Amino acid sequence: MSELVAPHGGGSLKPLLVHAAERVAALKRAATLRSIPISSREMSDLFMVGMGAYTPLDGFMGHDDWKGSVTEMRLASGVFWPIPITLSLARSTADGLGVGEELALTDGETGEILGLLTVREKYVIDRDLECKQVFRTTDAKHPGVEKVMRQGEVNVGGPVTVLSEGEYPAKYKGLYLRPEEARAQFEKRRWKQVAAFQTRNPMHRSHEHLAKIAAEVTDGVFIHQVLGKLKAGDIPAEVRTRAIQAMIDNYFKPNIAIQACYPIEMRYAGPREALIHALIRQNFGCSHLVVGRDHAGVGSYYGPLEAQHIFDELWDGALLCKPLKIDVTFYCYKCVGMATGKTCPHDPKHHLSVSGTRQREMLSQGEEVPTEFSRPEVIAILRDYYRSL
Ligand SMILES: [Zn+2]
Repeated sequence: MSELVAPHGGGSLKPLLVHAAERVAALKRAATLRSIPISSREMSDLFMVGMGAYTPLDGFMGHDDWKGSVTEMRLASGVFWPIPITLSLARSTADGLGVGEELALTDGETGEILGLLTVREKYVIDRDLECKQVFRTTDAKHPGVEKVMRQGEVNVGGPVTVLSEGEYPAKYKGLYLRPEEARAQFEKRRWKQVAAFQTRNPMHRSHEHLAKIAAEVTDGVFIHQVLGKLKAGDIPAEVRTRAIQAMIDNYFKPNIAIQACYPIEMRYAGPREALIHALIRQNFGCSHLVVGRDHAGVGSYYGPLEAQHIFDELWDGALLCKPLKIDVTFYCYKCVGMATGKTCPHDPKHHLSVSGTRQREMLSQGEEVPTEFSRPEVIAILRDYYRSL
């Protein structure tokens, strides 16, 4: 019996990716069905359901689960769920669909058939309510709100079968771990308490320090990269994974850190997203999630500690994966070492801070990057990338 934290919802993992043996027949059937192109967010959610990361969901939510997750952070069954997972269609498309009809879901860009959905329900949502509750704003400039406001008018709920994970498994071979594979890796190392570290950046010294604090208080750290669509100007995942691996190989003991990546698309929902990040990590077998300052935030929509505080509002048993709340980390010239906002007493003028813009400038123009800020092995990889642009 595994000593890792149990999957979310009290049952076993529920990966809905079809077995290889059944895939050909399923694809054949899919080719005869009405094909529905889906958005990048919907695709990433479909992949998440496919790998079992959204256990216990069996597909896209119906109205009651939508309403419950939006207003009370729980599914109709009572299980904790902080962000609605929905599929939307234009009214003209939705009107032509019958309940019980099976649809082929396709990649909106390539046309590849990704999965099957059986229509269980069609419903219209109050988008303002969803945005107010989930994003704490209805400002259309918020990237998550913008997507909700732009989505189709009718939500379609129903169970799915996933037929493809797109290019991810081949492109990120060895790094694209499904929850049961991550659990197997932890068990092989005899880890029981595992801290997940969510990242969408190459890791500099401050991120390394956070990951090491997490590794000190658990059996190991699971450095988990986001692969879904990012904001313009972000460093591509294939470069980030190499930079992170360079940091792990040179600055972590073997077997204390595992890097992996997963297909979620950021919603930038701050506190609510921190909660779903923890829920997902529970499915991956992690007992803890590092929640730093402004976790999953964007702009100045959320206070720096809101994503930490929201965990205190949950009811007992809602979530087994617990937050490791860690303050902002930096190099302090007075402490002469890595420090955090919680313990370092020195004026910020003694802290090394390098903005993203300044970093890009230093890297693309060949300037020295202080070793207090980032490891030379990491910098070398990023410098090559910026030179290639
Ligand atoms: Zn200090």
